[in-house]
Amino acid sequence: MIVDAYVALGSNLNNPLKQVCRAVASLDALADISVIQQSSWYRSVAIGPNGQPDYINGVVKITTSLQPLALLDALQTIENQQGRTREIRWGARTLDLDLLLYGEHPFQHERLSIPHAEMHNRNFVLQPLLEINQNIRMPDGTIVSELLNAIGTAGLEKLSSKNAE
Ligand code: ATP
Ligand code: CA
Ligand code: CA
Repeated sequence: MIVDAYVALGSNLNNPLKQVCRAVASLDALADISVIQQSSWYRSVAIGPNGQPDYINGVVKITTSLQPLALLDALQTIENQQGRTREIRWGARTLDLDLLLYGEHPFQHERLSIPHAEMHNRNFVLQPLLEINQNIRMPDGTIVSELLNAIGTAGLEKLSSKNAE
């Protein structure tokens, strides 16, 4: 079965724009994943430990034949290929790939929560997601645009060009 899913990308180390663009290409290169839509890139002020560089963030819509945990494995493999190390929680990183939504249903496992547990609090996730699909809803029916209205867009800046190249 082929399912629509949304993946959030973020980077704040080692040329972040290059990192996220490379990640989109790596995702699309996988036989079981097609990237079908891509948001603009956004610059966002880092959350978490103080003094981190700004992030580059964006969202892609994919279609995939992978089951949720296999998709998470694929995302983590790409993170690792791009030098992701897991040290401080929410610390600076070369690449973060979070699975936001998979089809229309929630999924709960010790390794994977869908929808992503923090997405409703993060304008740098909701804004690019809405750019791809302005009518999208959470699995519980909540309208995503209402989530963004509730938190606002402070600290978020849309970059003029879609690509680094
Ligand atoms: P946050 O989850 O708050 O965005 P983070 O992205 O910095 O924090 P990571 O260190 O990248 O956290 O991931 C920690 C673990 O979260 C992963 O090993 C993964 O098993 C788990 N996880 C749970 N749900 C998801 C999801 N929807 N997408 C990606 N990882 C998830
Ligand atoms: Ca994250
Ligand atoms: Ca993550």
